[in-house]
Amino acid sequence: MSHRLLLVEDEPGLRRTLGDRLRKEGYRVEAVADATAARHSVQQQQHDLIILDVMLPDLSGFEFCAELRSVGIDWPVLMLTALHQVDQRIDGFESGADDYLNKPFDMRELLVRIRALLRRTGRRTLLTVGCAEVDLAGTQVHREGEPVQLSARLFELLAYMIEHGGQTVTREQLLADVWNHRGVASTRTVDVHIGQLRRIVEHDPSQPKTLVTVHGLGYRLDVQSTFTTGHS
Ligand code: CA
Repeated sequence: MSHRLLLVEDEPGLRRTLGDRLRKEGYRVEAVADATAARHSVQQQQHDLIILDVMLPDLSGFEFCAELRSVGIDWPVLMLTALHQVDQRIDGFESGADDYLNKPFDMRELLVRIRALLRRTGRRTLLTVGCAEVDLAGTQVHREGEPVQLSARLFELLAYMIEHGGQTVTREQLLADVWNHRGVASTRTVDVHIGQLRRIVEHDPSQPKTLVTVHGLGYRLDVQSTFTTGHS
């Protein structure tokens, strides 16, 4: 259901941090340290996107990307590099990379670019949640066919509830995992956001059937169905 990412990064700290964060975003991540391991992984299974460091110990990311393209693998490739020169950026695109991000980068920018690449090139998983249709990777929500604008926090809450679909989630858990205990968020804040989500997913928000209250415990979201579209 979630997108499968291959992360190729030789620096252990960055590999771990990126891997953890991407998993938290709901992606399935395989993280490897060099082109040899990446090649092995590519032969074993399908990926939806490859995040590829340029400076690898055994092969440059440019060379590895060109190798993938030469054998007909067209999964989107996002290159990471500490290099800034324009000619190297051109090398990146000429090797068949789809996008390019200079280190150090902001995690949010990486996430935005991943979503954009997946939206542009990939399969999309659409979930039916009450009367809403949710594209997690594309960060798009429609209610009865009409696009809905959600704040980043509300989308994060929706994504979290979907990830924990069918389970009872406590307010405390939401404060910790969605709000990271930041700012002045309280359980009241959670309730307000749940109310906003209900206006998106429920036919009748006063009679919730999809995002239900589990009395004394918290909330539970029931996802009706998921389906994956073909390549766009
Ligand atoms: Ca490197």
